[in-house]
Amino acid sequence: MRPVIIAANWKMHTTPADAAELATTLAGRTNVPDVERVICPPFVCLAAVRDALAATPAGLGVGVGAQNVHHELSGAFTGEIGAGMLVGLASWVIVGHSERRRDAGETDELISRKLQRAVEVGLRPILCVGEQLAEREAGMAESVVAAQLGGSLAGFAEDPAALGAAGLVVAYEPVWAIGTGRTARGADAAAMAEAIRQAIGGLGRGFDAIATDLPVLYGGSVSAAAAGEFLAEPAIDGALVGGASLKVEEMAGIVARASLTAAGRRAATGRGG
Ligand code: PEP
Repeated sequence: MRPVIIAANWKMHTTPADAAELATTLAGRTNVPDVERVICPPFVCLAAVRDALAATPAGLGVGVGAQNVHHELSGAFTGEIGAGMLVGLASWVIVGHSERRRDAGETDELISRKLQRAVEVGLRPILCVGEQLAEREAGMAESVVAAQLGGSLAGFAEDPAALGAAGLVVAYEPVWAIGTGRTARGADAAAMAEAIRQAIGGLGRGFDAIATDLPVLYGGSVSAAAAGEFLAEPAIDGALVGGASLKVEEMAGIVARASLTAAGRRAATGRGG
């Protein structure tokens, strides 16, 4: 049974003080069974969020994630953050977000190196992939995403099991749906989730073992109102939430809906409540 995961990407919002308060409130309002919750604040807020969550019983089940990591462990890279520096602050990391591909010129080759560094230090990666609108309209969405996966996971060709051990999560985030208020259709996102598992399974020996159990999230203008469309799809295992993750009522609604999905999965496997 794949887990149900709701990850919050706070992007470049919050100060350490705001972040601590928001994390505490969110932890309390989203404390439902069987949903893995993750908060990814800006780097400078990681310690504040970690400490705030540790200080409240509801926060104990909430993971903390970084939004990025450098592709080298250390060196002369002014202003960057290496994976080892995140140990103790975060247990998750978002890699390859489309805003970084767009603004920082991140390529699949670079993303592959970032993933390797994350896995080396024991961070659980959320790899973001997704097509542009023109690519979807041209019928190329699945091939574009398959190419992103192939490039981003190339660094694991010798040791795909390391990815499985690290608990790789893939977030399918169509670029045209991020921050636009426009969501994909649930059925299209579900088809892409299956295509993602198939593409990873086809990467070669050892990748097939990861593919079946791979959690695939949907991201792109997810709100409490829109969440049901995705969380009703058996192929989709949760959401990566940007703008709405800064709003307590929205997150409470999204996680409550995710809890229904988790309960349905539990019932379907006869594990009871
Ligand atoms: C994101 O940041 O990954 C995202 C999906 O943003 P939004 O929910 O605002 O579209």
